[in-house]
Amino acid sequence: MDSVRVRIAPSPTGYLHVGTAHTALFNWLFARHNKGTFILRIEDTDLARSTKEYEENIIEGLKWLGLYWDEGPYYQTQRLDLYRKYADELLRKGLAYYCYCTPEELEERRKEALAQKKPPKYDRKCLYLSDEERARYEREGRKPAIRLLVPEGKTVFNDIIRGEIEFNNEDIGDFVIMKSDGIPTYNFAVVIDDYTMGITHVIRGEDHISNTPKQLFIYQAFGWSPPEFAHLPLLLGPDRSKLSKRHGVTSVTEYKNMGYLPQALVNYLALLGWTPEENKEIYTVEELIELFDLRRVTKNPGIFDVTKLEWINTQH
Ligand code: GLU
Repeated sequence: MDSVRVRIAPSPTGYLHVGTAHTALFNWLFARHNKGTFILRIEDTDLARSTKEYEENIIEGLKWLGLYWDEGPYYQTQRLDLYRKYADELLRKGLAYYCYCTPEELEERRKEALAQKKPPKYDRKCLYLSDEERARYEREGRKPAIRLLVPEGKTVFNDIIRGEIEFNNEDIGDFVIMKSDGIPTYNFAVVIDDYTMGITHVIRGEDHISNTPKQLFIYQAFGWSPPEFAHLPLLLGPDRSKLSKRHGVTSVTEYKNMGYLPQALVNYLALLGWTPEENKEIYTVEELIELFDLRRVTKNPGIFDVTKLEWINTQH
């Protein structure tokens, strides 16, 4: 295997959540076990919601947990020219096209499609735009977004944890890769970054599975071979609903401030969704690195239970 390169790519739109720490930890353990490289990338393209305070909190939390990165932090907002360059390449090759539709027009047509029981995906109006229409939009001062031309057929990928996953391309409309303000969308920026950073394994929460076919289309359009994918089970509360403040503290740095031991949180998070062969509950970080194996990660969600964490904290 090529030498392993993985990343954690948090969006600084909130404090470091235990769910993000869980994903970071699995990437970090995988990198350390394989003597690979762990990269930190700050996905700060959501300009309205990203803040310096959240970014600092994420960095503080990762350091406290001991999840030091070997490269980065890289910032997506410092790479906008790169995304533009790659989007232009797809435009030149006819694999992407400008779209002048406004959000209001899109919404109206989406509702119409739904009313006619058609899939509410983009109707390719701008793919077939005449030169006159285009010129009119330009005169009106409309700034176009860029959409990827989604190929026909099926998309299949083999997830290390979940096995074969298949999507019908017809269900996915031509999606925006660059917004009209020149900011890339999440799916586009991620692929350009993962490719240019030489990422070998994308290990992330299972809430991103539906993004994976879109990312695969982008790899395909460039003729790049995609990395391997491993979608981790999500963390839920003891009542099996989405983990939230209602279940107790979910901010990593709040555990730090309450005096918890980082090695206890690491120990606890590592065993949510992963069962090492030997069956015990208390592990040192070195043991976790030694034993870590993505193939033993479960599909079942990890149940985050604060009382269990408290107990593990007393054992360290
Ligand atoms: N910025 C994304 C998130 O925070 C990263 C997803 C990914 O790993 O591709 O969920």
